Amino acid sequence: MPAELISGKLISAQIYENLKSRIENLKTKFDTVAGLAVILVGDNPASQVYVKMKSKMCDQLGLTSEEFRLSSSITQNELIGIIESLNSNPNIDGILVQLPLPKHINEEEIIYAISPDKDVDGFHPVNVGKLLIGNPKFIPCTPFGVWVLLNNSGHSVEGKHVVIVGRSNIVGKPLMAMLCQKHKNANATVTICHSRTPNLPDITRMGDILIVAMGVPEFIKKDMVKPGAVVIDVGINRIPDESSSTGYRIVGDAAYNELSEIASAITPVPGGVGPMTIAMLMHNTVLSCELKKGIKSNPII
Ligand code: NDP
Repeated sequence: MPAELISGKLISAQIYENLKSRIENLKTKFDTVAGLAVILVGDNPASQVYVKMKSKMCDQLGLTSEEFRLSSSITQNELIGIIESLNSNPNIDGILVQLPLPKHINEEEIIYAISPDKDVDGFHPVNVGKLLIGNPKFIPCTPFGVWVLLNNSGHSVEGKHVVIVGRSNIVGKPLMAMLCQKHKNANATVTICHSRTPNLPDITRMGDILIVAMGVPEFIKKDMVKPGAVVIDVGINRIPDESSSTGYRIVGDAAYNELSEIASAITPVPGGVGPMTIAMLMHNTVLSCELKKGIKSNPII
């Protein structure tokens, strides 16, 4: 039987439905609209697409969005100056600096400059620390999206062995921190792998749930997956494709067609984790505005 397709398009639509009433509540009770500032430095084509998608979604939901498209020659201090002015702008609830940044800018310093109260990407060490101790405020959008995808499709990680391939600060490590917590819909046994992991297939085959965030096109093959496992593919890779008008197509880190013969459920690329990342960014922006207004509960976790 072919694997169940876990659709990020469908599940992100549910998130947006839920967000609409929260946005309406902020408008009627507090006469306020949540605002997101998105900063793009340089002209990386993929980053331009992501920034456009984020602004478009703000417009669709009726959130305020401010886009800053800055030259790649901007200095670190100039960029920090813009972030500081956004930190003190009462109309802005979330600040997102699209990564990667040009080489002459220190990404870490830029992340540190964002107020932890407006850090809707959840990359500031204060928010990373809060996530690690099990008291999160802003959860990084992609891991958050993975977690919601699993829960909302009926594949809770509770009691499962989750194997993650990839240990980046934006995907693998925060996922590990979320899933191993002593919380409802967490309580997973988590193994995290990377490029120095010996005998990787032996480990990936142990996962009841396998999450891949490597950036290597179609690396995970059928013989690396336990029969019946749930596979979440975070990867977004462009590979040449002459039959496409763009000259390329997008694939994940898992070989979707062969894995769908062995997995019990799998996310497609595109249409899996990608749409969830944007949905969770919108959630975090609204959450930031709610917290500012004294609304305390995070309606998702
Ligand atoms: P990074 O390059 O920061 O991290 C990749 C990780 O994969 C590293 O930990 C690396 O190991 C590991 N890795 C690479 N090759 C191998 C290998 N052969 N065997 C085992 N481990 C390996 O990537 P990101 O975490 O930023 O992104 C991963 C993927 O997810 C990319 O395709 C990216 O485009 C996509 N992505 C998708 C998002 C979405 O919204 N869907 C959002 C963010 C990212 P080591 O640490 O040892 O180098």
